[in-house]
Amino acid sequence: MSNIVIVGGGFAALQTIKMVRKIDQDIAITMITADSGVEYSKPNLSHVFSQAQAPEDLTQHSAQQLAEQYNVVIKTKALVSEIDTEQQCVYVDGQSIHYSKLVLATGATPFIPPAEGLKRNATITLNSLEEFEKHKAQIDDAQRVTVIGGGLIGVELAFDLQTAGKNVTIIEPASYLLNSLVPPFVSLELERELTKAGVTVETDSAVCRATYLPDGVRLQTTSSRLIRTDIVIAAAGLRPNTLLATQAGINVSRGIVVDETMRTSAENVYAIGDCAEIEGRVMAYLQPAILSANVLAKRLTTGEGEPLLREAKLSLPHIITKVKTPSYPIQLAGRDIQTAQSWETRFDPKGIIAKGFNEENQMVGFIVTGQHIKAAFPLLKELQISSPS
Ligand SMILES: Cc1cc2nc3c(=O)[nH]c(=O)nc-3n(C[C@H](O)[C@H](O)[C@H](O)COP(=O)(O)OP(=O)(O)OC[C@H]3O[C@@H](n4cnc5c(N)ncnc54)[C@H](O)[C@@H]3O)c2cc1C
Repeated sequence: MSNIVIVGGGFAALQTIKMVRKIDQDIAITMITADSGVEYSKPNLSHVFSQAQAPEDLTQHSAQQLAEQYNVVIKTKALVSEIDTEQQCVYVDGQSIHYSKLVLATGATPFIPPAEGLKRNATITLNSLEEFEKHKAQIDDAQRVTVIGGGLIGVELAFDLQTAGKNVTIIEPASYLLNSLVPPFVSLELERELTKAGVTVETDSAVCRATYLPDGVRLQTTSSRLIRTDIVIAAAGLRPNTLLATQAGINVSRGIVVDETMRTSAENVYAIGDCAEIEGRVMAYLQPAILSANVLAKRLTTGEGEPLLREAKLSLPHIITKVKTPSYPIQLAGRDIQTAQSWETRFDPKGIIAKGFNEENQMVGFIVTGQHIKAAFPLLKELQISSPS
C-alpha cells in the first residue's frame, strides 16, 4: 500500500504535505517529527525579543489541527533512529513503519564553534520554536548578550536583542559582517548602523576561552579582548542533519545529495529543505524549499512515465535574500554575487543601490539597502534578463 513517510515537521515537511494534498487528497501520509509538530514561522524568531513575543505568538497550527486539515497521521516527539532502504521502512522507538516513498526533511543543527571551556549545553542556539521556548526566560533575564557569528542570523538576532534593551556584542572571525553575502562596502554601513544602535562589533575575532563565573561568563577572544557576558548565543552557521542518510548508505556531501527531482541516491528516498544539497549547495531558506516541494509533490503522487512527472524538475530562479535588520534592511540576489568583478554603486542618504558585474560586464547580482529596498523587484527582473538562472 502507498504510504508517504516524511521525517521532520518543519517548513519543508509541511510545504511538501500542502503541495501533495493539492494533487491528491487521499494518498496516505505519515509525518514523524522529533518536536511537537507545531506549525510556526521560523523567520519570525528574528524579532521575538524586540516585540516581546512568546512562543504561542508564533504558533500557527497545532499538530492535531494539521493532521485534521491535511488528512495526515502525525507522530510527534518521535525520533526516527534508522532507515532500512532494502525493506523500505523507518524505525521509531523500536517500531518499524513501512514507506512506499520516504522524504527526509530533517533540517539542520546550529554549529557551536569550539573554544576552551565553552560549554555546549550552556550555549544558546535559536533555530527552532522549541529552542526559543527553552531559552526565552534566560534571554529575557540577561542584560549582557554575546552573539558568536556575524552572518545573517547573527546580525538579525543582535539587532533584535539590542532593540529589546540588551547590551549586545557580536564576535565574527571574518574581517567584516555578512561576509558570505555582501561586499565590505555594504557590510561597513550595516556595522555603522549596528554600532549606532549600541551593538559592539568585534570582527577578525573568535572566542578562544570561556570561564563560567557566579555572575556570568568571561570570554577571551583571539584579538586579546575580555568580554563579560550573561549569556552566549551561537549563530555560527548550520550543519545539515544527515546522520540518518549516512547510516543508510545514502550519498551525503555537505547535505543529503539530491538531483533536480529531489531524489537521493536511494530508491524512493527524497530530501528537501535545510538538510538537502541541491546542485552542490545547501540553501537554508524558505523559497528553495517551496520550489522543491512543488517538484517533490509531483514525484510523490505520480507514477513513472506520467506526463506530470516529466515537468517535475527543479529549476531555481534568482531569489531575493532579505536581511531583517529593521533600521537598516538589506536585500540582495544573484547566485554569483560573490564573484562580482566590478560594482556600479549609488550611495545616498536613503541607502545603497549596487549592481555587481562579471568580467564580461554581465550583471550577476544586486544589493539594495535602507529605503532603496523598494528597488529590489525591478532589479530582480533586470538580473533575470541579464543572467537567466
Ligand atoms: C532566526 C532565523 C531567521 C530566518 N529567517 C529567514 C528568512 O527571513 N527567510 C528565509 O527564507 N529563511 C529564513 N530562515 C531559514 C528558514 O527558516 C529555514 O530554511 C527553514 O525553516 C528550514 O525548514 P526545514 O523544514 O528544512 O528544517 P527545520 O525547520 O529545522 O525542521 C527540521 C525538522 O526535522 C525534525 N527532525 C530532525 N531529525 C529528526 C529525526 N531523526 N526524527 C524525527 N524528526 C527529526 C525536527 O524535529 C524538525 O521538525 C531563518 C532561520 C532562522 C533560524
